[in-house]
Amino acid sequence: MIIDCHGHYTTSPAAHQAWREAQLTAFASGQSAPAYPLITDDEIRASIVGGQLRLQRERGTDLTIFSPRASAMAHHLGDAAVSEAWAIHCNNLIHRVCQLFPRNFLAVAQLPQTAGVPISHAIAELERCVTQLGFIGCNLNPDPSGGHWQDKPLSDRSWYPFYEKMVELDVPAMIHVSAACNPAFHSTGSHYLNGDTVAFNQFMTSSVFKDFPTIKFIIPHGGGAVPYHWGRFRGLAQDAGLGLLKDTMLNNIFFDTCVYHLPGQELLAKVIPVDNILFASEMIGAVRGIDPETGFPYDDTKRYIEQLPLSAGDKAKIYEGNARRVYGRLNQQLKKQQQ
Ligand SMILES: [Zn+2]
Repeated sequence: MIIDCHGHYTTSPAAHQAWREAQLTAFASGQSAPAYPLITDDEIRASIVGGQLRLQRERGTDLTIFSPRASAMAHHLGDAAVSEAWAIHCNNLIHRVCQLFPRNFLAVAQLPQTAGVPISHAIAELERCVTQLGFIGCNLNPDPSGGHWQDKPLSDRSWYPFYEKMVELDVPAMIHVSAACNPAFHSTGSHYLNGDTVAFNQFMTSSVFKDFPTIKFIIPHGGGAVPYHWGRFRGLAQDAGLGLLKDTMLNNIFFDTCVYHLPGQELLAKVIPVDNILFASEMIGAVRGIDPETGFPYDDTKRYIEQLPLSAGDKAKIYEGNARRVYGRLNQQLKKQQQ
């Protein structure tokens, strides 16, 4: 089985995004949001069949771990109540996709985060999604301010109540920023990769993994700058007396394969142990074009994995085994959805 651990509902029905805009307009004028529109199963089917499902079939992948559109989380807009209502509607829609296509999608939650609001506010929605709707993970935004980095680092104890709940529910978090509202950053370029790199560095210099030895985080987009600069991080950890990264980080941190060229995948697989790499494409996502050097879509990452000088057993870990290990509820939920 080939499990893509990183897909977003970027093709959600227009009425869903229209409601979000109406919600924000209402918030700006001090009014309550309009009722959420009726979206039919047929509309949801149409949004998936010609998009993510078609690409799964064309590319030969089986299952996508699926979450709401990341750039649209926009935790910097509105307030805590606005973020909460938006997260609930986004997650409910993901749940419906998984009900309509139970063999093709497993759900991951958007969290109701807001800059300056304690992360404990997001616990109830995580719990609802996991225990009531069968979600197997969440996307955790290390910077709800959208590129201004106003909140405390992930090492801070204010994040601990959320980590405790992740461990209790046995769900990992993918570290995932949203759109940048700071004009210095390009959302899916610099801000995304920066978020990945920052999160790794914050965990590296923290005691989070001593305090939560079984907690698991996926750092997407190939780990941002981390694998490319593995020597720098190893050296920084050594200078700070933190020990070896393979001991201090690699029981808890995993990297996905959303790196959109072969040399990048080769580096990732050479530097990072195969047990810490999860197959992902982030389709349909940030980079949708065709690479003129190969003639294939940049985000058809399976083509790169196929070319890596790894054994079939190692590739099976990247494609399937590691995801089953990192997402503790995956096996059980998949069995349930495949009945
Ligand atoms: Zn993403």
